[in-house]
Amino acid sequence: MIRVGIVGLGNLGKGVEMSLKQNPDMELVGVFTRRDPAGVTAGAPVYSISQLNDFAGKIDVMILCGGSATDLPEQGPVLAKLFNTVDSFDTHAKIPEYYAAVDAAAAQSNHVSIISTGWDPGLFSLNRLLAEAVLPEGNEYTFWGRGVSQGHSDAIRRVAGVKRGVQYTIPVEEAVNRVRGGENPELTTRQKHLRECFVVLEDGADAELVAQTIQNMPNYFSDYDTTVNFISEEEFTSTHTTMPHGGMVLRSGRTGESSTQIIEFGLKLDSNPEFTASVLVAYARAAARLAAKGDFGAKTVFDIPFGLLSPKAPDELRKNLL
Ligand code: NDP
Repeated sequence: MIRVGIVGLGNLGKGVEMSLKQNPDMELVGVFTRRDPAGVTAGAPVYSISQLNDFAGKIDVMILCGGSATDLPEQGPVLAKLFNTVDSFDTHAKIPEYYAAVDAAAAQSNHVSIISTGWDPGLFSLNRLLAEAVLPEGNEYTFWGRGVSQGHSDAIRRVAGVKRGVQYTIPVEEAVNRVRGGENPELTTRQKHLRECFVVLEDGADAELVAQTIQNMPNYFSDYDTTVNFISEEEFTSTHTTMPHGGMVLRSGRTGESSTQIIEFGLKLDSNPEFTASVLVAYARAAARLAAKGDFGAKTVFDIPFGLLSPKAPDELRKNLL
């Protein structure tokens, strides 16, 4: 039995708790939070993060569910000194820096830390690598959506006059079809994705001004075709409070004289955090196995053999899935 702990109980932490119930080779020992544990409800004992030291040797893998912006850069290296860890650090530009900090901590203390799992980075990264290795001549295209972007939704909610707001990223169908057709198009930011916003206005707010402020916001919206829809609070609550997401990784390559080869991997997710959590749990199994073999240090999805993710024995995998 692999003994697991969860650090941080937000959307992702709750998803991990649910996913562990579908994996009978793992048990949840405890949840660790920065908040007062008395005020946090979970399906396992909840402890203060200050009690972590007491659990060294009692937990095989700690699944880190804090946010990438500020929680993981602080918690990742500290926890890698005490436990084997898995996380979903997703600030792509800072992954090399984060890897170095976690690797130093994990290697020194004989732990395994698998960073940046999830779906992007994570399963999408694996598919980008696989497609590029198989088709060295070609172009890679990643499309995201239709799904809720947390960062863009936060940006809308900061606009004066907005009471509630959510933003969906949507791939432009024409662009996807051109890639699928083997055209190898050069696509601008605007040609790849649309942004669709749903907003509940504060009483007396100026709808036109709110729409323009959102559409002209640099970095977030000004480089995209953005639509802003104003809806009632009731409609917002009934239709826009889940977290769907997904997307596609495509590679359009050439082989031989003139053969076009298309590789496509896609995800359509009702719940982004529940899915991301399920990926974290599979990588927690791999972390426990690598630690048992003494293969310490930080790892990414590129370093983990697929067989280690499965609860099934290698001979069973060879028989049924090859
Ligand atoms: P949340 O904002 O829900 O949770 C982040 C942390 O905030 C929690 O760990 C928790 O820590 C704290 N928190 C949560 N709820 C409350 C509350 N009510 N009051 C006070 N504090 C609270 O983030 P998510 O779980 O949705 O996402 C976590 C990270 O996962 C994201 O930052 C993102 O980077 C990553 N991610 C990665 C993906 C990938 O594909 N690689 C995909 C999706 C997400 P504590 O319990 O200690 O207070």
